[in-house]
Amino acid sequence: MAYTYDDTNIFARILRGEIPNKTVLETEHTLAFHDINPAAPVHVLVIPKGAYVSFDHFAGEASEAELVDFHRAAAKVCQQMGVSLDAGAGFRAIANAGAHGLQEVPHYHMHILGGRPMGVMVSKA
Ligand code: 5GP
Repeated sequence: MAYTYDDTNIFARILRGEIPNKTVLETEHTLAFHDINPAAPVHVLVIPKGAYVSFDHFAGEASEAELVDFHRAAAKVCQQMGVSLDAGAGFRAIANAGAHGLQEVPHYHMHILGGRPMGVMVSKA
């Protein structure tokens, strides 16, 4: 089954400049910005600029340049936000995908959450 990307999603609109965002970092292939409804003192979303629906889509089909740029940018976000393990107390990186992952926005994004202990990873419900 092919991945289908809907370019009316809210992050596509942010990338087109139609909706404002609080940018943390921008590179050639990646944008990182504060989540509008933060679930922790640090809650940053890292997104590729390319049209990828989910982690598996991005990891499976993005170019090496995009993959490297994205992960280096995510690491810089951790450092910039003071949660990186070389300076801070750590963080949680989450990528929700699809219906079972409760993904709301169908453009791949990595949540970087920190600034407090993040609790158990998932409930068993
Ligand atoms: P998901 O559930 O898809 O993994 O997470 C989507 C995230 O996007 C949520 O944490 C939500 O608060 C955030 N979000 C939704 N709309 C906007 C928006 O317009 N701007 C920003 N900065 N974040 C948004």
